[in-house]
Amino acid sequence: MNAQLVVTDGTLVTPDRKVAGDLLVDDGRITGIVSPGTVVDADTTVDASGKLVLPGVVDPHVHVNGPNTIDGYEAGSRAAALGGVTSFITFAWQGWDSPDSQFSSDGTLHEAVERQYDAASSSLVDFSVHATLTRDDPAALEEISDLVDGGIVSFKIFTTYDFGLRNGFIERVFEELAETGGVAVLHTEDDDVCSMRESVLRAEGRGEPASYPDSRPDHAEAMAADDAVRMAQKAGNKYYGIHTSCRAVADIIEAAQTDKSQIRGETCVHYTTLDRSAYETQGLLPMIAPPLRTGDDVDAMFEHLTRGTLDVVSTDHVAFTEASKQTDNWWESEYGANSVQHSLPVFHDEAVNKRGMSYPKLVRLMCTNPARIFGLTDKGTLEPGTDADFVLFDPDGTQTIDATENESEADYSIYEGREVTGSVTATYLRGECIAADGEILGEPGYGESVEREAPNWNE
Ligand SMILES: [Zn+2]
Repeated sequence: MNAQLVVTDGTLVTPDRKVAGDLLVDDGRITGIVSPGTVVDADTTVDASGKLVLPGVVDPHVHVNGPNTIDGYEAGSRAAALGGVTSFITFAWQGWDSPDSQFSSDGTLHEAVERQYDAASSSLVDFSVHATLTRDDPAALEEISDLVDGGIVSFKIFTTYDFGLRNGFIERVFEELAETGGVAVLHTEDDDVCSMRESVLRAEGRGEPASYPDSRPDHAEAMAADDAVRMAQKAGNKYYGIHTSCRAVADIIEAAQTDKSQIRGETCVHYTTLDRSAYETQGLLPMIAPPLRTGDDVDAMFEHLTRGTLDVVSTDHVAFTEASKQTDNWWESEYGANSVQHSLPVFHDEAVNKRGMSYPKLVRLMCTNPARIFGLTDKGTLEPGTDADFVLFDPDGTQTIDATENESEADYSIYEGREVTGSVTATYLRGECIAADGEILGEPGYGESVEREAPNWNE
């Protein structure tokens, strides 16, 4: 038996099982799985004894080259590679030109996608983009069908901030997505409630970090989620609720999942590992939207991951410096936290080591489900015929999260000092080792845009 590369003596983790096996790779693709000890004539042999071999992580929620992050593709993808993330999906913002510009009122979704592809030439890992609508512009409706045909099959919509859309327009987008098979990706928080609460807190001078979550309460997230889910059910489009933070919203998603083919949900590593007490201990470093919630909400994330309400654990990776985060008042700070470099070991430690999640379930949440939901047909499994994206993971390797090792432009970590068991020892993308033992081995630009198709959620 021949192969260019064989990974021997590891334990393979697929979406369904953990099994001893050797992985064969040719021309960047997995060509087979054979029993340990099978004689293979290979150019390269990788010894994975004592290691798990996981599919490369597919993170569908990473912010690089955008108005809300200082990471470009190169820094963000290097952080991803060290974290075992071999593909990510970022955001192509309608009417946003460059890090120096604000949103313009005439930029199209097509132009936004093209700008991202141009900027992505320095990416180390594979990538795609969610077309991101930033205004109630009927012209954008005309673009959706062509974008879906071209492989941009997911569309990000906010219900809050200056670039949030109104319900009436969201419903029109949903109707267009129902026609074309595209996926609506929703950030849901009720803008009126959040704006009024921010005004009151500012008037009262409550700028301390612990007051921040009161400005964006769980019921505001649930109100907007309820509206959006009802419109999706009416329109019949695919709906993906992004960064679910609390029990109230997960319950809404679950209640709407009478047919799993239409309504899906995501949570993020931070909503499964931190609660709002972090604002007391870390100040504004974990100021994200929606905010960190209560311990009961953290438990609810695991209950809903276990029951299958929530299909994906992502990062919502956003890079800013500690100086721009730790401002005097929370309303002067930047939203978002970086984490793509440590999401797999941090989530693994909490989910598998502390809460008893199985490895196949971990693989479904971080690899297989995001790939299937967003139409990355060659990613997220170890199936022969798919891309040879895999991670060597030492389940017993210990590490202490240390932001001085960040490849991101962000100079802090919301997991700083956390001791975790389980570490990424090597990351392979299309058969090439792009990172190993904490060092980047791949070159900028090795990453490719991922061909996507409108997904079939009925499978
Ligand atoms: Zn985000």
